[in-house]
Amino acid sequence: MELIKKLNPFPLRACMNCGSWLNLRTFFCGECHAKALEQFYSPKIIQVEGLLVKSLLCWPPGKSDVLSALVLQMKNEKLRYWNIWAQEFAIRWEEPNNLRKTLVVASESSSGKKHGENWAQSLAQNLGFDYACPLKPVKSDRRQRELNRQARKAREFKISEDFSIPHRTRVIFADDVVTTGRTALAAFEALKKPSNFEVWSLIYREL
Ligand SMILES: [Zn+2]
Repeated sequence: MELIKKLNPFPLRACMNCGSWLNLRTFFCGECHAKALEQFYSPKIIQVEGLLVKSLLCWPPGKSDVLSALVLQMKNEKLRYWNIWAQEFAIRWEEPNNLRKTLVVASESSSGKKHGENWAQSLAQNLGFDYACPLKPVKSDRRQRELNRQARKAREFKISEDFSIPHRTRVIFADDVVTTGRTALAAFEALKKPSNFEVWSLIYREL
């Protein structure tokens, strides 16, 4: 199976929602892709932890197996599969020909998976923005995590020493899923609270 995957750079996939077979670079067929957007796109800016969040899809509590399957699947996918969602995001949320200097920032994930970085990078590529991944999670030791579940939830990032934000730059922290906003807040703080800061997510998951 691994060999087949290696030989076929654009494997035939079934639509994750309806099962129809198509050569897809994403997980829904055209029809289900449009349906997901129609059903879950919400054009309002969300405020979490005092930060402005723009999100392509809003996931209402206790709803949508489709979105949870999408999140799970996308965690392991390569950069190119993120592009279609980044394009959908860009169409809805960004003014065309925006000339503001913009830097899209990602954080490394503590799991070592690249989903957050892929989302950020595909947004930057699609919009012609700069991209950086200067944030690394600070690991709390295992005993502390076991003793205190709250400590496990609280995020903290350390920032690469050579990283600085150019003057008059809009900073976008891109994360594939935003729920409590704690990760975004930790990023905002690690970046020393830039004055022009937004959070861009594929999915905003309401609690
Ligand atoms: Zn379908």
